[in-house]
Amino acid sequence: MSRITTDIFISGGGIAGLTAGISLARAGFSVVLADPAPPPADVASEGSDLRSTAFLQPARALLEAAGLWSRLEDAAMPLEALRVINMGDTLPDIATERTFEAADLNEPAFGWNLPNWLTRKVLTGAAAETPGLDLRLGTGFSKLLTREREALVTLTDGTRLTARLAIAADGRASPLREAAGIGVETTRYGQKALAFAVRHPVPHGNVSTELYHKGGAFVLVPLPDHEGQPASAVVWMQDGPEAVRLAAMEDSAFGEAATRRAGEVLGTLTPITPRRVWPVVTQTAAALTAERVALIAEAAHVMPPIGAQGLNTSLHDVRALLDQAASQPDALGTPGFLDAYAKRRARDVAARARVIDLYNRLCRSNLPPAQAARSLGLKLVHDVSAVRRGVMRAGMGG
Ligand SMILES: Cc1cc2nc3c(=O)[nH]c(=O)nc-3n(C[C@H](O)[C@H](O)[C@H](O)COP(=O)(O)OP(=O)(O)OC[C@H]3O[C@@H](n4cnc5c(N)ncnc54)[C@H](O)[C@@H]3O)c2cc1C
Repeated sequence: MSRITTDIFISGGGIAGLTAGISLARAGFSVVLADPAPPPADVASEGSDLRSTAFLQPARALLEAAGLWSRLEDAAMPLEALRVINMGDTLPDIATERTFEAADLNEPAFGWNLPNWLTRKVLTGAAAETPGLDLRLGTGFSKLLTREREALVTLTDGTRLTARLAIAADGRASPLREAAGIGVETTRYGQKALAFAVRHPVPHGNVSTELYHKGGAFVLVPLPDHEGQPASAVVWMQDGPEAVRLAAMEDSAFGEAATRRAGEVLGTLTPITPRRVWPVVTQTAAALTAERVALIAEAAHVMPPIGAQGLNTSLHDVRALLDQAASQPDALGTPGFLDAYAKRRARDVAARARVIDLYNRLCRSNLPPAQAARSLGLKLVHDVSAVRRGVMRAGMGG
């Protein structure tokens, strides 16, 4: 079989890989993108990603520039306020509660929430129509050999490619990262996150709610109505054995447990999707690049799912690669190009991973000092106007 020559090979068609592929093809580069898993047809399909993502302003701007936002915006729920609640010792008692309003910063919303399965489906459709992007679903990355001037890639169906740059967007267990010989540093918390969606009688009013208690955060993020009733996406973090117990519960008992854990703030929660369980880790790659290879998204960094930083950080990676490629198209994949990319992203990735790691440790502890610190911290951050605005700006992806 003869080799296909392309500017860029992307391993992985998750949200980050697809956004990178579409953006780079629109910038004039030839791109081959491979993923062994086609996107699910709907939320109930096997393998459907039940998480949702609150796209912050910089992520929305990137999707707008790639002509993608108009395809997504009808399903996107604006998050106009964030309510943070520190639970008392006994559920469903509330110890401290504060609400942060986007209008306080003269912004219409902190972010826009979209279900991951839908975003991936829409982006896959857009990728298939993008000139210059050769989308190969059902086949994956298999082997890598690099030379000074090119990356030689073999796919699982035997196709062989020569690319100036190979981008690893193939998730937390990234096969391309491994083939490039880049290791990872992983911090485990003994925690898991349950992702699912619920309907509830009390309208969410476009307010996202984060409730802290032992085991970790419980987050309710607004979704469009489900069969005429308000609905929210939920991420429920818990110590591993407790999360496994909750995941195995029968639906109505699980709904009752979730309702109590949510402080009954939206009334009775009724699950409307299955539950998926995710291990909670911080994982960072030892390097963001290797010869002719760049890592993006979860191939480069995984964070606990609080603060809506994971995929948003990934889209900052895409923005950086895109800017670099547009400003130095002839240098694509050279050592200078890769060094500039790594330099632009390394500090930001490390800082976000550190902050989310600390935040998660503080949020999950039920020791009295941690609980008191949470309540005090919440009051301080909210009640001092300058601090509140600074933290809100930072949380919005600045
Ligand atoms: C419970 C939970 C809630 C979250 N909520 C948020 C949030 O609100 N906001 C936010 O910003 N982030 C959030 N995140 C993080 C976010 O969901 C992830 O960062 C994001 O989905 C990962 O995207 P990705 O494209 O890097 O990886 P993935 O979605 O894992 O995509 C990787 C792709 O690579 C493919 N692949 C695997 N092997 C190969 C191969 N050999 N060749 C080619 N392709 C391959 C896979 O099929 C897959 O499609 C959350 C995470 C969790 C766990």
